[in-house]
Amino acid sequence: MSQPFAADTETDYEDPLDLMDEIDQLRREKDATILAHFYVDGEIQDIADFTGDSLKLARDATRVTTSTIVFCGVHFMGESAKIMNPEKTVLIPDPLAGCSLAESCQADELKAFQDGLRADGRRFETVAYINTSAAVKSLCDWIVTSGNAQEIIDRIPADREILFVPDRHLGRYLSEVTGRPMILWPGSCMVHEIFSVQDLLRARRSNPGSQVIAHPECPQNILELSDFVGGTEKMRRHVMSTAEPTTFLVATEATMIHALQKSAPQHTFIPVPGIMTSSGETCACNRCPHMERNTLQKVRNCLRDGQPEIVWQDYYEAARAVLEKSLLQ
Ligand code: SF4
Repeated sequence: MSQPFAADTETDYEDPLDLMDEIDQLRREKDATILAHFYVDGEIQDIADFTGDSLKLARDATRVTTSTIVFCGVHFMGESAKIMNPEKTVLIPDPLAGCSLAESCQADELKAFQDGLRADGRRFETVAYINTSAAVKSLCDWIVTSGNAQEIIDRIPADREILFVPDRHLGRYLSEVTGRPMILWPGSCMVHEIFSVQDLLRARRSNPGSQVIAHPECPQNILELSDFVGGTEKMRRHVMSTAEPTTFLVATEATMIHALQKSAPQHTFIPVPGIMTSSGETCACNRCPHMERNTLQKVRNCLRDGQPEIVWQDYYEAARAVLEKSLLQ
């Protein structure tokens, strides 16, 4: 479901160190906890109380004891934090920070597709990747992240079909590793879709002995060239468990390198380049334009102003039941 977003405002340059001090003071005054996804700017990760991937942050959100949560990420993540904490105020720095993957599966289209399958007598369970709106989550049986997908899929009875939404690349990968055929929704992430195989091969040639680590949202041709496939938290654990200094070519949103470098400073991390869809040219790294909308200024502003706020919606109750059963049990 598209959100009725208000336009954000750009303001003049402010010193990052002053902004960090101001945020720290406001965080105490407003009784707030800051959560930041691995894909937001490193300086925001540095001031956050919790950092992580979607699964870790959804779980962290249930442990917050302050009355306010500031969620630095994209809209569906703020929604999940609100769903798990109905009594808390959940603020997001920029309501225009959406997600191309979540947008590729709209609730009304999913409902029509599910109704069609049921009319044909198909028995299925719907598994949604966490990168979906709350309206879509409310129509599903399970919510997965790249960190827990395999374990959840193993819980689905073998006599049921699986409808997997919205990421066709992650769905194909999970189908391969679990051996379960899946009906795949044709969605994809604009960041992971555009990695360049040619540039990955070139980077491997220029960095002998390097390892390619890739997110399962990447297309099959990138995963086939990878030495390790896993979500962001698994990636972080993988590089931490590698003692020998190594060059890693990283095929996921480029800001992830900040968290990897902090966790395992003995290694060298190089972002795998993507291809700009507008011009066909290769860009130096792959940034998510939605995650990039989070800035220190906007974190300060939302703490100071108490908005933009994620407001409770009726369908959050159904989404909550699915999220709790999937992520907390
Ligand atoms: S990197 Fe892709 S999946 Fe993640 S928030 Fe950005 S558009 Fe969505």
